[in-house]
Amino acid sequence: MNHVRRIGQLRRRMTKAGLPGLLATHLPDIRYLCGFSGSSAALGVTRRHAHLFTDGRYAAQASEEVCGATVGIVKGPPAVAAIEWLRKQPGANRAAFDTSATTVAELSRWRASLPARKRMSFLSELAEPLVMPLRMVKDEDELALISEAALIGCRLFEHVLGIIRPDLREIDVAAELEYKARQLGAEGMSFETIVASGERSAMPHGRATTALLPRKGFLTLDFGIIHKGYMSDMTRTVYLGKPTVKERDTYEAVLEAQEAGVGAVRGGARCGDVDEAARSVLKRAGLAEAFTHSSGHGVGLEIHEPPRIGTEQSDRLVPGMVVTIEPGVYLAGEFGIRIEDMVVVTQLGGKVLTPAPKALIQL
Ligand code: ZN
Ligand code: ZN
Repeated sequence: MNHVRRIGQLRRRMTKAGLPGLLATHLPDIRYLCGFSGSSAALGVTRRHAHLFTDGRYAAQASEEVCGATVGIVKGPPAVAAIEWLRKQPGANRAAFDTSATTVAELSRWRASLPARKRMSFLSELAEPLVMPLRMVKDEDELALISEAALIGCRLFEHVLGIIRPDLREIDVAAELEYKARQLGAEGMSFETIVASGERSAMPHGRATTALLPRKGFLTLDFGIIHKGYMSDMTRTVYLGKPTVKERDTYEAVLEAQEAGVGAVRGGARCGDVDEAARSVLKRAGLAEAFTHSSGHGVGLEIHEPPRIGTEQSDRLVPGMVVTIEPGVYLAGEFGIRIEDMVVVTQLGGKVLTPAPKALIQL
């Protein structure tokens, strides 16, 4: 039912933009619009019809999953078949595509498939994505799945706390996390698990290595799972041994910044203001320079989606959006700390989807 409604919303946007046809090739967009989760597909949408093209490997899967569109199985590239279909639809004198999801090679292949007189006129570039603005605001079903994904993440964190000890390597921690994720029903990890310990925690994207966990120092775990197509994303930083005063104070500053960011989330808030709420805490603590990235990002069928919670971002939060709030402090040669929650935007405020403990855990 949702897919029919989503395609309906897309058609309203197409009408507004004066577009008779749309070629969707970005797989998360296709999954969002018609439910198909295979890795080879293109979706043609007109004001009246929607048709999904995929290849023979996915015939059974497509008939099971697709909702709100008819299905065609093709031998060649699905996008070329979708363009041919679009050309034959009454009133479809052109079709728009999303440049951010299209390579130069694809576009030239698509154009080459058109008759010479239509080659330059039939396909037009979308001025801005049409599907992403719909995907940004999650419906009830999506929120339920995202919240389940986030809770699986919290269970993983709890589980891995029980095994962390100094003679393990970072990859042992990542392996345990990923094995347990599968046992809890995850389809996979939503990105490469970050396990960064000791001085390595000063690398915001420190992938797990064969380094041994230190006897004394921070350990940052940033990970997420995929649950029925939806991603989770959370970070916790714990301490092995007993932290120094500086380490503890820095942790408290990051936590305060993170909570200020979460506290600024609500419908209508400017993304830049949410970022500033977190950033200003770290500025006051003299740590502005050490906070080297934006405060968060949208998450859903993809791990990084709009909106971006960054400096000067003027986009406004809308109830139903799911964003991360993840300030961090990175002191090269010393340590790094990041704390990240997933938060759903409501009219009154932000609702945290990742209720794992944030007070500094010492192991
Ligand atoms: Zn993360
Ligand atoms: Zn994140």
